[in-house]
Amino acid sequence: MKLVLATKNSGKVVEFRRLLEELGAKDLEVVGLDQFPEIGDIEETGTTFEENALLKARTICKLTGLPALADDSGICVDALNGAPGLYSARYSGNGDAANNEKLLDALKDVPDEKRTAYFICVAAYVRPDGFEVIEEGRFYGRILHQVVGSGGFGYDPLFAPNGMNCSSAELSAQEKDAISHRGKAMRAIAPHIIG
Ligand code: IMP
Repeated sequence: MKLVLATKNSGKVVEFRRLLEELGAKDLEVVGLDQFPEIGDIEETGTTFEENALLKARTICKLTGLPALADDSGICVDALNGAPGLYSARYSGNGDAANNEKLLDALKDVPDEKRTAYFICVAAYVRPDGFEVIEEGRFYGRILHQVVGSGGFGYDPLFAPNGMNCSSAELSAQEKDAISHRGKAMRAIAPHIIG
């Protein structure tokens, strides 16, 4: 079976393929949107992570005629009433480093015990026969006072997972998969894909 991932990000395709293979999806050919150059960017016009993930999976399923898997993710900071949330990727309008600076600035007067936050990933799987399913994963922790570590991406250098004395930018890919929002969402949705 062929499965289309609703992303042009080759890093995400590699990560999804690895996760699905580890979960037992042996006969699955996982392809990214780079295989469909005629499909342009899909605007994320939803007002929730669920809406955006479903919107992407439904659009790609319809345009390719193949089963499609999409995800939408972000970081929600309690002291900021859940911001940047849905707007995590575009928080500063200027990329990851500027996003991290903006977050540090927004929390500059917030003490340790109030710097709680979580990453969320919502995955949506849509088949041409109309089958649809959504699963969610969360990764709880708190926001550090400065960037730490050089792995991962996005807000990883500012995020200390609960019960760990490091940032998620200091975890290996496998260590992060085991506890992350994306790993949890993928483990929850994989049985629906594999059947
Ligand atoms: P999207 O899911 O491609 O819309 O991107 C969501 C944004 O949330 C990313 O650009 C990052 O800023 C942030 N984000 C989501 N997951 C992670 C993660 O695992 N580590 C760090 N940042 C993340």
